[in-house]
Amino acid sequence: MLRISGERAFAIGCAIAGAGKQPGQARVAEFRDGDGSTIDRGIAIRFRGPRSYTGEDVLELHGHGSPVAMNRLLDRACGLGARLARPGEFTERAFLNDKIDLAQAEAVADLIDSSTGQAARSAMRSLDGEFSRRVRGIDRLATDLRVHVEAAIDFADEEIDFLADSDIAATVQAIERELADVVEQSRRGQVLRDGLDVVIAGPPNVGKSSLLNRLLAEDRAIVTEVPGTTRDLLSADIEVDGVAVRLTDTAGLRSSTDAVEAIGVERARSAAAKADLVLLVEDANRPATAEDAAAGLDVAAPRRLRVRNKIDLSGEAPGRGTAGEVRISALTGAGLDALRQAISAAVGVDPAEGAYLARKRHLDALAAAARHVGEAGRRLAEGFGDLAAEELRQAHGHLGDIVGATTSDDLLGEIFASFCIGK
Ligand code: GDP
Repeated sequence: MLRISGERAFAIGCAIAGAGKQPGQARVAEFRDGDGSTIDRGIAIRFRGPRSYTGEDVLELHGHGSPVAMNRLLDRACGLGARLARPGEFTERAFLNDKIDLAQAEAVADLIDSSTGQAARSAMRSLDGEFSRRVRGIDRLATDLRVHVEAAIDFADEEIDFLADSDIAATVQAIERELADVVEQSRRGQVLRDGLDVVIAGPPNVGKSSLLNRLLAEDRAIVTEVPGTTRDLLSADIEVDGVAVRLTDTAGLRSSTDAVEAIGVERARSAAAKADLVLLVEDANRPATAEDAAAGLDVAAPRRLRVRNKIDLSGEAPGRGTAGEVRISALTGAGLDALRQAISAAVGVDPAEGAYLARKRHLDALAAAARHVGEAGRRLAEGFGDLAAEELRQAHGHLGDIVGATTSDDLLGEIFASFCIGK
């Protein structure tokens, strides 16, 4: 599809596809070159601004999809005075023309880039403006409070009484709660957006590569009976409950005299330390040795899940055990569903719960706003109305950054440059 936006879009469209009927109506048209020859035949649609994606007059030519014909159409449009759009320029214009705010514009890119159904649904919620509405709601509460505080400062005699009002403290707390709630939902969204890093660790030969292969349902890792052959890290992407998961198989964790293997072990440790979740695999038929225990303890992972493998040999029942471990057989696939559930539960992603596909930028701004609101609360309690008002003003600035009310040109440039061309 070729999309042209701006004042001359209709004039250019008319030269290529003939005069149209009503804006918004699709019609079949011949797309003609300058010499009158037909480049392609397709559908032409005009959208009269402001009722268009960009808010400007927009013309769309839908062809058969031949890259050659599309290039000829592009050349023809450029010959008539159009120019190629920069990445994200259509969405940028939509933002500049107040069709959408900045968080919604970012959601467009996130929707396009989303790799799972969950991520796409969350992006769509942000695109619908749900996230922006919450942020604006909090901003309104903070601004109302600031107006009150400033009014109190103007009536200095009553200031102390007013600032000590318990309603004020309750309002501050309500704003803080709202902020914490949005941050929580945004964090979940960030997991959906960026995916989870899950590392498979444990002593040699317990079945780590076999487990990776099972989860992948394809042979990507080297499975072998000789201990210590997975010397490097092997990563693969899977989807667990709608969340993108990057699985990394590591070299067996144990002290090694082999130099190459020692490097692998070191990499395994550092991968585990950075992971969102570590699956600590053990062999159900072999009691853990002191060496295993020491190696396991070395994994400084924030979250870990004990996985007891090879239960087809030990005869244990598959599924969640009383000590929180998950009993599986990488060979037969028993207990794998329980493992998938445990993975999503361990990282706190409930697919049934709503999330906003927030970016780090949003989380940073929300955290900064929360800091200033907290500080405002303390200033109010101390009776410093003017200082509290300043903190609330700062909070307003950070919240405004999210929806683009107060964002610098540099940041706007950076955000839209990350879009793909034509969006
Ligand atoms: P790693 O060194 O931890 O990556 O272990 P591997 O995945 O290479 O497996 C070591 C050996 O254990 C191989 O011979 C596998 O076939 C075997 N193995 C792995 N998982 C199971 C299992 O669930 N049951 C049985 N019986 N054998 C397994």
